[in-house]
Amino acid sequence: METREHVVAPKKPILTPKAIIHQNFGNKACYVVEEVKEVHQTECPGLNIPQMGPCLYRCTLQLPELSVISGIFKKKKDAEQSAAEIAIEKLGICPETIDPTPQEAQESLVARIAYIFSEKFLICDHPLSGHIRATLWREGDLCGLVPLSVIAVYDAKIFSLCRCINPEVESDPFLVISYIMRATANLYQFLATSERHLWIRRQSPYPQDIIESLMKEDDGSQECIQVAAIRIPSSVEQSIEDLTLHISLKEYYLDIIANELGFQDAANILISRSLGKASSETRLFFAAPKSYLLDLYSNFPNGKETLYFKGSLNARASYFAGQNIIGDAILATIGYTRKSRDLFYEDVTVRLYYRMLLGKTPGGIYKLSREAILASELPSKFTTRANWRGSLPRDILCMFCRQHRLSEPLFSITCHPFNTLSGLSGLSGSCLKVAESCGNVIESVNGVSVTTPKSSDSELFKCEIKLFSRRGDLILQCSPKDCYKKQNDAIQNASLKLLSWLNKCFKSMIVPFEQLCQTADNFNIQIYYENIFTDIFVGQSTHNGQLDAIQCNKLVESIYRNSSCDMLGNIVNSLKIEGPYSGVCPCNGSLPCIRYSVSLAVEGENVKEVIEVCDEFEFEVGLGAVVFYIEEVVTQMSVGQYAHFTTNLLTSDLIFASADDSVKMPSLLSSKDCCLEYEISLIKVTEPPEERMEQALFSPPLSKQRVEFAVQQILESHASTLIDFGCGSGSLLEALLNYPTSLEKMAGVDISQKGLSRAAKILNSKLVTNSDAGGQWTSIKSVILYEGSITNFGSQLHGFDIGTCLEVIEHMDEDQACLFGDVALSSFRPRILIVSTPNFEYNVVLQRSNPPSQEQEESDEKTLLQSCKFRNHDHKFEWTREQFRQWACDLAARHNYKVHFSGVGGSADVEPGFASQIAVFKRDWKLEDDVLKHADEHHYNVIWEWNRKIE
Ligand code: SAH
Ligand code: MG
Repeated sequence: METREHVVAPKKPILTPKAIIHQNFGNKACYVVEEVKEVHQTECPGLNIPQMGPCLYRCTLQLPELSVISGIFKKKKDAEQSAAEIAIEKLGICPETIDPTPQEAQESLVARIAYIFSEKFLICDHPLSGHIRATLWREGDLCGLVPLSVIAVYDAKIFSLCRCINPEVESDPFLVISYIMRATANLYQFLATSERHLWIRRQSPYPQDIIESLMKEDDGSQECIQVAAIRIPSSVEQSIEDLTLHISLKEYYLDIIANELGFQDAANILISRSLGKASSETRLFFAAPKSYLLDLYSNFPNGKETLYFKGSLNARASYFAGQNIIGDAILATIGYTRKSRDLFYEDVTVRLYYRMLLGKTPGGIYKLSREAILASELPSKFTTRANWRGSLPRDILCMFCRQHRLSEPLFSITCHPFNTLSGLSGLSGSCLKVAESCGNVIESVNGVSVTTPKSSDSELFKCEIKLFSRRGDLILQCSPKDCYKKQNDAIQNASLKLLSWLNKCFKSMIVPFEQLCQTADNFNIQIYYENIFTDIFVGQSTHNGQLDAIQCNKLVESIYRNSSCDMLGNIVNSLKIEGPYSGVCPCNGSLPCIRYSVSLAVEGENVKEVIEVCDEFEFEVGLGAVVFYIEEVVTQMSVGQYAHFTTNLLTSDLIFASADDSVKMPSLLSSKDCCLEYEISLIKVTEPPEERMEQALFSPPLSKQRVEFAVQQILESHASTLIDFGCGSGSLLEALLNYPTSLEKMAGVDISQKGLSRAAKILNSKLVTNSDAGGQWTSIKSVILYEGSITNFGSQLHGFDIGTCLEVIEHMDEDQACLFGDVALSSFRPRILIVSTPNFEYNVVLQRSNPPSQEQEESDEKTLLQSCKFRNHDHKFEWTREQFRQWACDLAARHNYKVHFSGVGGSADVEPGFASQIAVFKRDWKLEDDVLKHADEHHYNVIWEWNRKIE
């Protein structure tokens, strides 16, 4: 495809020094802001006490080539801008391009138009020359009439000159036509225009010899090409359809498009700017309404240099183009190459239109990048780069900005010296909450304080993102408070935060401005610009107040018919999971790999149209990385199983975007029994990093060692009843069926339905299906699974001999973990309670053994510990040995239990202790019978139960 000519450099918006640095260095620019405390002498003579002045800032900007230090400023941002300014000066970058004044531009415009109609231009290689030549082959009166719109869109120089005259043309490109009109008036001796049509022609024909030499080049071929295009009717009620343009090379293609729109010739056809990819020649073609011509000649009667289109606004096309489009429009990719009369063209289909539409939303960009339109969703969190599938958040954000004609986003990274070990918390575990003050003090959230050497070169990164309009106005600013060990993590997380909010806005589309601001607040986003609607959400179409709120909603409905329903409810119908249960199941953080297909089917009839298939599709569970019902189903499956279900959730825009054949779709979709049919096979599951790390290091696996530890305690205790608090998918209960113990009754409690149903399946197959094997040598007489929170006392479980709570408390908030301890020892009151949780200090070892992604210097252990992540992104905290000891000792003391400490993986005597730390609480006094009188009778729900048959 040909690139368009850029003769005059496009006018640069006024950029801040930081923006210029960003353009030149991207993320390689690192701003370090430090607080400077100025010491003033008091005015009072004699009393020579230094006083602290207000807090001031100085910024060091580190660039690959140099590092500069700003002066001292009251505001951080001024210090940063000043540093950037100094750097720009030192590097001598960005010599300001001197733009012509509007007056000069007007003169150049006249000259440019004269040149376009010169003989020289006619024979030169320029896409516009192709148009001019094509008009010369037209028969009769039309010969040599060049539509104004082609001059306005196919000559980059004209556009940039007009932008100098009036920057508004950036958002309202049709203004260019009126400027060309006015400039042409100055050339009346050379060029003619029409009062009623939008064309220009030479007053005197081109010299015959030039025409003849051009004729010779023309091989006179009668060839006819077919170009697929689509029609977007102005009425939202009418659907978008495919059409074919039949163009013989003897004809002017714009005339053919005009014919399709119901007009004789191209004189009054208007052309939108190019849409989609930067190099694309995909444009919308439509007819100029009569009122437009009147406006054009009345020379802006309202004093404002904006043309008001009267006529029926084509809402879909206007939204699509971000420009006002009137009446029916045709979307096509076609144009002249630089040479001869060759046309280049690409087919535009209904599917492509919906894909381009999808590409305007952050979620859509993600779906397209994953090539899974009906299956994937923009994940809600960025855990690790290794787990992320599809385009990275930062790239999606850049693409989004290009789509909406915004400037490239500006990412600013700030470094924060890392003085105190802070509680690692938040999404990926690599995220640290830092006190607002710029980096100097980091609050220790968990009360851990590890003294680090003063000159620790360890740093944390925070990322702030700014979005600017094309003209340089700040629109949005996203300033998450989270800090990351890696710059890239900070950038990706901040990008995702901004994208998530934008996506949310797109899903609900038009919301009142106040509401928008409110939701933005929760995402640490500030909106600076009320016109955000016109810039991002509905393109330029509301700019002139032509679309009212009702029209907007209608438009949105017609474009994004996505149901925002987020409950499973009756969405999944007739779910069947087939195949033997293998026990290998996806859980939070793991990466299941599925094969799936989605078809459009009509229930009761034998009609089925496959619309999306994928042989290997991997996603991370727990982040909403797929449509919620796929995740819901996949987490109920085990490897090797096959699931089948239907849903009535028909998202026609998505269906059109993924279906290859859009011809059959409308009739299928219009059937009221139409549904989407999903077929899913679970091929494999990649374990979450916690297990992967542990597997690499421990044999037998840490989880097995925990179970063995518990079994040992149970054997020694001669207990006959056991509750497993937070039993998850029942791994401990299942294991206990394999050991000869004194246990007769076991119960498991969990809040997770998914975990419980998996536990039920596993225990069921062991006890019921294989009752022979299960029954003979275990002493167990009954097993029950309860649903409920272990922080609520369920009276069924009072007074059991032994309680286990393995790797559960770290999945709760810290106060909840403390609450559990109190409830367990004051209400459940087992004789023995075993609690295990990761030892945070051991992560240094685990994560060091982890493959290259965490390349860590072999410096001192403390620095390493600071950089450690949690083992699993679902963990709310991970305690050091000291923190765990504190919690357990206090708890035991409160309830008159004894506690001793142990663990598995590693050793108590070798730093950094056990990998999994365990506290065993023991009660050596007898329970009185009436202790429970005061407790209210709260019962857990029984999820599944098994009792040995009495022989
Ligand atoms: N004990 C199991 C599972 C550990 S995963 C094992 O060792 O394999 C942690 C489990 O704690 C999850 O199943 C989660 O659902 C459960 N959990 C978290 N908070 C809970 C609460 N308040 N009440 C009950 N279960 C909880
Ligand atoms: Mg855990």
